[in-house]
Parts: sequence; structure tokens; C-alpha cells
Amino acid sequence: MQDAETLKKELFREEKSGWEGMEEAKKHEIFDYCNRYMSFLNCSKTEREFVANAKIEAEEKGFRDIATMTQIKPGDKVYYSNRDKSMYLAVIGTESIEKGIRIIGAHVDSPRLDLKPNPLYEDSGFAYFKTHYYGGIKKYQWTTIPLAIHGVIVKTNGEKVTICIGEKEDEPIFTITDLLPHLAQEQMEKKLKEAISGEDLNVLIGNMPYDESKVSERVKLNILSIFHEKYGITEADLSSAELEVVPAFRARSLGFDSSMVAAYGQDDKVCAYTALTALFEVENPKTTSVCILSDKEEIGSMGNTGMESHVFDAFIAELLDKAGINRPNLLEKVFVASEMLSADVDAGLDPIYAHVSEKNNAAYLGQGVGLNKYTGARGKSGASDANAEFVAKVRNIFEKNAITYKISELGKVDVGGGGTIAYILANKGVDVIDCGIPVLSMHAPYEVTSKYDVYTAYRAYQTFWKE
Ligand code: MN
Ligand code: MN
Repeated sequence: MQDAETLKKELFREEKSGWEGMEEAKKHEIFDYCNRYMSFLNCSKTEREFVANAKIEAEEKGFRDIATMTQIKPGDKVYYSNRDKSMYLAVIGTESIEKGIRIIGAHVDSPRLDLKPNPLYEDSGFAYFKTHYYGGIKKYQWTTIPLAIHGVIVKTNGEKVTICIGEKEDEPIFTITDLLPHLAQEQMEKKLKEAISGEDLNVLIGNMPYDESKVSERVKLNILSIFHEKYGITEADLSSAELEVVPAFRARSLGFDSSMVAAYGQDDKVCAYTALTALFEVENPKTTSVCILSDKEEIGSMGNTGMESHVFDAFIAELLDKAGINRPNLLEKVFVASEMLSADVDAGLDPIYAHVSEKNNAAYLGQGVGLNKYTGARGKSGASDANAEFVAKVRNIFEKNAITYKISELGKVDVGGGGTIAYILANKGVDVIDCGIPVLSMHAPYEVTSKYDVYTAYRAYQTFWKE
């Protein structure tokens, strides 16, 4: 008989912190990578900014706009920018695309407050922007924090004004006020989800009247006069705009040990960044490697920049065309032969709220990437459930390459659930599993990840493409 300790080591699933026994040099490598990640986040708070910066870095790494190429060959690096809000990148494999592609898909939109089409108003000497929140937020979290405004205003002549205000030290910020506790007795009695209503999320943007004349709404007039001087726009131009209110916080190292990252928008820019930078390391892969940076995931992936659109199919069809192998129904066959990691964040177990997680099947910060065989809620409703054969294949790839992972579920069975873009590709025939980074305070203005997991995801994604 074997002794119990050896047998346990052999038979039990191993679970430990990735930091344990790590050499200093490795730790430095991880911290350096995360410093680059945090700087990228600080200038990529919106989907448009992420795509713009991804494009710059991709071009530096030799990626070319697919539209400028008449044909493609193995080893080529190409990209397609979908209306500057989502992006697909590919490194062409030595094997024919016909045999399938390997996709890693993340999303670059994050929960935020969008300005309404007629946002500007004045009340009691204050000027405000009205907002309509985007994605699943806890509204009370967005009051009394510094906010920045990012986005574009498009004039009727097509001219596009890019706005980013509230990020630099010498720029003003904005905020949403809340009631003082002294007068909040009634508010405090309300349910948390009702205490702040959607219509209360009005951003304070000014308090100074234009001049001493008798015209009404002079604070609003003063704001419009500033806009006109600075951007050459009028109030009506705010209706053809996409202005996003995001936290003005910068990404920072978290903890005395600096082991974590605190930042806005890590769902899902953490997977988008790790996937993108992993693709930059891929040279002459056997299987064509494709990276998706999708938009609109947080509101259901609809619209022509969301994953539900057919623009991605058009991109793959263009690859087939330009590889000179396209024929009727080939695209469908390519999808059926393809494999994908749906790279989206996972809910990490939070000890303060451990009651919503089931400890055996929870993801923990610092234990590598989280693999979710399925998502969905309450009875796997709406889930894309990865086939056991594919789960085994991904496990094998990771284990061979010493990638630490944990297979988990998002929360207790009856508590809730979530979804990603996994099902959209799975419905086309692709073998898909969710593979992302566990996060604390998901969808909050400040989300927390482990630097170990961030780096592990970067390595895991590389491995999946290089295998
Ligand atoms: Mn997400
Ligand atoms: Mn999300």
C-alpha cells in the first residue's frame, strides 16, 4: 500500500497560490508585464480608445489592414477594424484555413454611464449631463467618485471631435452627488437597488453663469459657450455623439505586496489586453490564430459592432478569399472545424461575500486562469456548455505547458449567473470554452485582479495559439 500523503498528491486536484515558491526573477517579469498592462488601461478606458491603441501596437508588430492586401499567405499578420469599436486580428497559419482556426475572443466595452442624446440641462444654478447607464451596474457605486468623459462628437459635415477630459492632473473632473447622511433617513430605508435611480445619475458639470444679463439658463449657456469655443459644437451636436462617463481613477498596484491590480474596466480589457499581447508573440503558427476584440458584450452583443453581427463572418470569408481557397459553404465548414477560448473575466471568490460561491467550484485570485465549462444561470439556462472532449484537449494543452488553471462556475447554482460571447461562436459550430481571469468587484468602478492571473492568461493564450 502507498502511503496516504503520496497517494493524495497523486490523486487530488492540486490547488495552491501561483505565487508560492516563485523565483524573484519571475515575479519581476510578472510585475513588468502588469505595469505595461496598467499603462495601456490608463489610455484605453473605452472601446474606441482600446481599438485605436490596439491598432497602433498591432501595426508596430507588423499587422496590416486586410483591406490593403490583395492576397494573404502563411505567416502574414492582418487586422480588420470594425467601425473603430471592435477589431479582429489574425496570424495566418501554415496549415490551410479550411482545417479550422483557433480563436481567442474578448470584449473591449465595459459598464459605464453613456450621455443621453439630449444630455445638457440647468437646475437651480447647476449644469448637468443626463446619463443612461450601459451594462449591469450597481448605481450607488457611481456617485461621489471622480469621473471623466471620453468619446466622440460627430458634426453633420462628418467632422469627428474626439473628447477626453478628466484624466490629466490639470484637467477638471466631474461627479454625481449624493445626499448627506443627515438628510438621508428616507433614502437609507430604501432597498440598495432603489436608493439611487437611473434618472438620478446626473453628472455635475458646472455652476458659473455666462454673464449678468437677464437671459434664462445662463449656466447652461456658459457650458455651451465653452464647448463652442473648445470644440466648435452647438447643443444639437451632442445628439450625434457617443460620450461615455467613466471613473477618473488610474490603474494602480493593490496591496502592500503589490500583488493585485485595481482598475476600471478590467472586465474585459484584462482578457483583451492579454489576448492581444499574446497574439503579438505568435509567429508562423500551424493553425491560423485569430483574436477578437468585440464591442457591446455588456448589453447583449447586439448591433453591427457586437459579436452577434455577421461582420466577423465577413472577416473570415475575406481571409478565405484572399488565401485563394474560398468556395460555397466553406465558411460554415471552417467554423465547425474551429476552436475557441472565450476570454472573459470570471467571478473570483470574495471571502467577504463567500456565501454566493460554492467553494469547490469557485475561481480564486492567484490560482491562474479560470476555465468555465459552462455559463448560464439557474439550471444552465442559456448556457454554452463546452464538450468534455474539448475541455480535455484544453486541459492537456495547459498541463503540458505548465499553465495553472482552475475549472469553476460563476456562483452558486440558484444564486445567479452570467454569459459571455461563447455561445455566439458555439452556435456557428466552433468548440468553445470560457477561459478568463477571476475578478473581484466585477462591474464596479474599480475592479480587482491578481497579477499572477493576468500574466498566466497571457501565457495561456499564447500556448493555445502556438500548440
Ligand atoms: Mn465580460
Ligand atoms: Mn461584464
